Amino acid sequence: MIRVRFAPSPTGYLHVGGARTALFNWLLARRHGGLFVLRIEDTDAERSSADMVEGILDGLRWLGLSWDEGPLVGGPHEPYFQSARLARHATVARTLVESGKAYYCYCAADELKAKREAAEAAGGAWKYDRACAALSAEDIAAREAEGRPRAVRFFVPEGAVPFTDLVHGPIAFDAANIEDFVILRSDGLPTYHLSVVSDDVDMRMTHVIRGDDHISNTPKQVLLYQALGAAVPQFAHVPLILGTDKKRLSKRHGATSVMEYARQGVLPEAMLNFLALLGWSPGSGDRELFTRDELAGVFALDGISGGNAVFNPEKLDWFNQQHLMRLAPDDLTRRLQPLLEEAGVWHADYVDDRRAWFYAVLELLKPRARRLTDFAALGDYFFRDAVAFDEAAVQKHLRGGEVSAHLATLAAAWDAADTFDPATLEATLRATAETAGIKAGTLIHAVRVALTGRTVSPGLFEVATLLGRQRTAARLAHARQLA
Ligand code: GLU
Repeated sequence: MIRVRFAPSPTGYLHVGGARTALFNWLLARRHGGLFVLRIEDTDAERSSADMVEGILDGLRWLGLSWDEGPLVGGPHEPYFQSARLARHATVARTLVESGKAYYCYCAADELKAKREAAEAAGGAWKYDRACAALSAEDIAAREAEGRPRAVRFFVPEGAVPFTDLVHGPIAFDAANIEDFVILRSDGLPTYHLSVVSDDVDMRMTHVIRGDDHISNTPKQVLLYQALGAAVPQFAHVPLILGTDKKRLSKRHGATSVMEYARQGVLPEAMLNFLALLGWSPGSGDRELFTRDELAGVFALDGISGGNAVFNPEKLDWFNQQHLMRLAPDDLTRRLQPLLEEAGVWHADYVDDRRAWFYAVLELLKPRARRLTDFAALGDYFFRDAVAFDEAAVQKHLRGGEVSAHLATLAAAWDAADTFDPATLEATLRATAETAGIKAGTLIHAVRVALTGRTVSPGLFEVATLLGRQRTAARLAHARQLA
């Protein structure tokens, strides 16, 4: 049974890199009927906060990445907050000391610093000289009697530390380059390596999928698993996400917080689809559009590329448009309502008497919207009675010449039309233009400004049809006064 985890440190919001790591873990679990565990690594009390934990949970919920064990839902390996597991980590450290795999180190920080600086001044690199591993029983007793603070260091065995990374293939580190690292500090708190391995062992993790920045930590962790007599999980290190300038993604490139994209009107479906393809591909064909369930049906770790992935905001917009186009009108309406309310253009009858009309308006606007947040402005002239006129558009297309007269003729012709549908309106307009001896385009431009206040809109005759006979007539009359 596959067991994977997302183990964020709540020192910041859920950023796109973290979300992608969570997603790959979640997908692997869902693909194989495994379990996805959420563990909050809040051991850095100063930098962690409850708000950040909430933010991370919000981000995961928004993306629909539900966790099977973890905060709020609990599970057989509680607690899922690492800060509540510190006593267990200290016990594990003691076990390692008792089995001779680790030892107490009484060296003071300034002693170590002096040794390091001396070695570096002599042009060499320094790693801990194992002074405390060589202490006799009397030396130790003396230090204990003095009440000297002690840390626990792991005794790094000689040899190569090989592991197979499911993304990068076989990797081997030479233990000669790894110093006896501290696993429990003198204040009794575990270091990252100890807590992460201790928890992953206790929580029975089978796979560790995380960012590439943890590759260099992996040999130390492999050594700890071995010292604990625990099975080493399978590792998959996911390449970094870069900006379009090939530099590590940062705020300079725009929003890096997942929820910031939510606020900007990106659909969770689109974000999820976009993140999935950031460094992963399904292998066969060039299919790009997937729902969450579809991804869960095809995801495999061997589709993760070893090369860094580039975060292209235009691609995200493309995914957003594609997923917008696929949303059923009631679903789209549900998501738009709060935004239209905020813009002051929501009417309760959009989900009641005028539902069919509202859905038709959305269908017309959809191909032009990149984000949910675009709809209020795009459809402003449908949602408000008063048209907001773009002065330049009025100047260019309504003023001067005989525009007013032509609009009057057209208004009369449209008023007399038996049916008020796009085909009829178009035929009538073209006939009116021909009789008047002007180009149809000239009249279309003027009418567009009259009905929408702007020079760009969806198909004019569809717009007029949806505005309806009365509103169209009123707007043509009003525009004649501007002309
Ligand atoms: N809390 C660590 C981080 O956020 C997790 C490391 C890991 O996945 O092993 O980087």
